[in-house]
Amino acid sequence: MLDPGATIGIVGGGQLGRMLAMAAARLGLRTVILEPQADCPAAQVANRQIEAGYDDAGGLEALAQACDVITYEFENVPVEAARRLAEWRPVFPAPRALEVSQDRLVEKQFLNDAGIATARFAPVATVADLAQALSDFGGQGILKTRRFGYDGKGQVRIGADGPGAAEAFAAIGEAPAILEARVDFAAEVSVIAARGADGAFAAYDVAENVHRDGILARSTVPARISAELASQAREAASLLLKALGYVGVIGVEFFVTRDRGLLANEFAPRVHNSGHWTEAACAISQFEQHIRAIAGLPLGQTARHSDCVMENLIGADVEKAVQILAEPDAVLHLYGKAETRPGRNMGHVTRLSARSS
Ligand code: AMP
Repeated sequence: MLDPGATIGIVGGGQLGRMLAMAAARLGLRTVILEPQADCPAAQVANRQIEAGYDDAGGLEALAQACDVITYEFENVPVEAARRLAEWRPVFPAPRALEVSQDRLVEKQFLNDAGIATARFAPVATVADLAQALSDFGGQGILKTRRFGYDGKGQVRIGADGPGAAEAFAAIGEAPAILEARVDFAAEVSVIAARGADGAFAAYDVAENVHRDGILARSTVPARISAELASQAREAASLLLKALGYVGVIGVEFFVTRDRGLLANEFAPRVHNSGHWTEAACAISQFEQHIRAIAGLPLGQTARHSDCVMENLIGADVEKAVQILAEPDAVLHLYGKAETRPGRNMGHVTRLSARSS
């Protein structure tokens, strides 16, 4: 268990690191950020920034020396860097979680092995693999690169009127990939869950998510799904955390199929954008929950006191900030990014309403 005044290292300096650092500070803990970009959102609210790349040997060693425990705020942290850090200090979640989540094929297999259903998928190493998988899947599917795909990047939809196998494979640079059956989903939902060092499990209510241009636009809580489906989603998260031997907060995304089944799409081994609502609608946010878990402190309450809708402020949306501040039940969070760019997450707003159920 970390004592007050202990230091947490965070690899990555974006908004998730910023909110983790703020939660740590509230618990009397210090933070050091490893991030190459100066004046990054996380460093603005942390005790110190080490300005070095995520795989910079000197930077990693300096981080380990400065900290008692280390975590990360994005899933593309080089696994080798996380392993290196783990030689010096406890790293939570363990590097294995990064390794699994960085490869869509390994991730889907891991989910299935843990007893969690996903869309059908097939590995694709060659055009011939893709042609075969397409014919197995009725001529359509979504081709996704195995690595470094997020927010809809590195993906091609293949259907009757879309590109053929050769064209689609070329579009992803002939990188190792998977073909996934296209899910005709009724909704997309996610669960934010945590596992403590002692194996304790806690999950927040299920959020219903809408993506725009591959980026999360809105999360509504509670999701409009049955209590049974919601508990199935939490149970899946629990199975996954156990299988990974995980410590910390995880975000697990699912499709709700038209016949009300649940298929896991992917997980992120970190706090998650679809859990930002917890900051405004729960006593203990996902950020504090993560800090508690990795610090060996007891997990907090996950009950929500309000219903809510969280909206990301993407690009020029941030210009609505002052207007939002005038709304009575809106909780605004800006990330301190100097430059507004299209597609860039600048902040979010959570609008609260009376708890319905
Ligand atoms: P991902 O990068 O896997 O999170 O995919 C980004 C978005 O693409 C998801 O949030 C879905 O809206 C859509 N998508 C991904 N995989 C599928 C699928 N197998 N079937 C239908 N839609 C999908």
